[in-house]
Amino acid sequence: MDLTEADIQTIIQSVLENVESALGDDKQQKNIQQPIQMKTISPHEQESRSSKLREHENEGIFEDIEHAIDAAYHAQIDLIKNYQLKDRERMISSIRESVLAEKETLARLVLDETKIGKYEDKLAKLELTIQKTPGTEDLKTSSVSGDDGLTFEENAPFGLIGAVTPVTNPSETIINNTLGMIASGNSVVLNVHPSSVETSKYVVTLINKAIQAAGGPKNLVTMVKQPTLDTLKSITNSSKVKLLVGTGGPGMVKALLQSGKKAIGAGAGNPPVIVDETAHLKQAAKSIIEGAAFDNNLLCIAEKEVFVLDSIADDLIFELLNEGAYMLNVNQLQNVMDFALEKDSTGKPGGCSYQKRDYIISKDWVGKDVSLFLEKLNVQEQNKKLLICDVDFHHPFVQLEQLMPVLPIVRVKDISEAIDKAVAAEHGNRHTAVIHSNNLEHITKFAQAIDTTLFINNSSSLAGVGFGGEGHTTMTIAGPTGEGVTSAKTFTRKRRSVIANGGLNIIG
Ligand code: NAD
Repeated sequence: MDLTEADIQTIIQSVLENVESALGDDKQQKNIQQPIQMKTISPHEQESRSSKLREHENEGIFEDIEHAIDAAYHAQIDLIKNYQLKDRERMISSIRESVLAEKETLARLVLDETKIGKYEDKLAKLELTIQKTPGTEDLKTSSVSGDDGLTFEENAPFGLIGAVTPVTNPSETIINNTLGMIASGNSVVLNVHPSSVETSKYVVTLINKAIQAAGGPKNLVTMVKQPTLDTLKSITNSSKVKLLVGTGGPGMVKALLQSGKKAIGAGAGNPPVIVDETAHLKQAAKSIIEGAAFDNNLLCIAEKEVFVLDSIADDLIFELLNEGAYMLNVNQLQNVMDFALEKDSTGKPGGCSYQKRDYIISKDWVGKDVSLFLEKLNVQEQNKKLLICDVDFHHPFVQLEQLMPVLPIVRVKDISEAIDKAVAAEHGNRHTAVIHSNNLEHITKFAQAIDTTLFINNSSSLAGVGFGGEGHTTMTIAGPTGEGVTSAKTFTRKRRSVIANGGLNIIG
């Protein structure tokens, strides 16, 4: 265990207190030959002392939420008072280097803990996050000058941000959010998904150590050891927290928006893909598999259902099979539904449509490998990347955000039907949509009708977050609240400074 200066001070203080208490008030009159009686420490005090030491062991990790809030709150004040923009950039570079050096450990950790997704795709997500999340260069000051003087608008920090992270990209969201939030001068207290606590603790510790290695303040990023809905409530209710940022499903986004604080909500999607008769089918199939199979379809942007013109549907399926898809027959499809879906007995609205549902996804099958599905079906096939099935529009695999490597394909007679059905399947989330077409009119009509935050032409959905496409990346696509592809400037307030009258006091 590495001891910091503060740890050593705590230990010295504790020893001195014990010695003083053993010597009594009048130290001169005490027989110092007598054995020193150790002061009895109450179990509560004992726990509080050792928890103090443990906090240093795991930088940024706190037993209770109020301490996590408080530490990050003071760290942000320190950051703004005592550090410049170039210092923030140095901290950000240090975080990038540390995470890059530990990417294998992180990918393995998250897979072992959550048991969803694929190791190599987790590595790719980490690399993307480290390399394409903007830093301080994202913050641009705008200015206007004229006869009346000079006015400029800067990006000011909010202060302490409360952020909620999902189980599907736990480490990447923490890294992506904190890079942007620190670049813009904020600190962050996290309420992470309970199923990814160990991974999150590791990342938070790594980030804090990297910040301190670059000379930055302690506890710029904090979290509570056991996040719950109550700890989230403490964050949303705290007067020290000035902005909330949530990445996850609709229930969480709704909770943040009801908090009475400014909230940036990145919610669920159910991204449809249209393939028309002008598409390059081989390329379309390759792109669809690339996006839909990535990390076993855990990404919110991933292709979730395909609408293909009937005239070319068989050709597209042929190309998908060539690219590593496995077509489920009617019996196999029923089998998959039996084990990977559960009847929804709650009757409550929820999921990506926020409507009442007949089925919900079984958590046991979210993000699992194709090989496990095939094993369960007693199919002896190797190296398959994605399961596909030929279904109608109302099938639950079309309507639900499954987060599983099962891609339903719906045949439609023409582009109008494709657009209508794709828009309906997206359920108004306005998250992500993909089209494979070389007909500009079809592309434009679909883009206008679906009006999503990400709209991708002739490529995989991954291009929408800078993976094989231009532009920066994010793990927080804020559709419901409209900030879109978030970055450092998203976490700022606009602040105007005005110099009028040539900056002179003209009276007197
Ligand atoms: P989830 O909604 O179950 O959990 C997300 C976070 O919210 C967790 O920290 C969880 O503890 C918390 N939470 C859940 N329900 C809550 C409630 N009622 N009140 C308060 N907090 C609550 O989602 P998940 O399974 O972790 O992640 C998958 C979901 O997140 C998918 O729907 C996916 O589309 C979405 N997602 C969206 C984006 C985006 O950028 N828009 C990115 C990643 C994931």
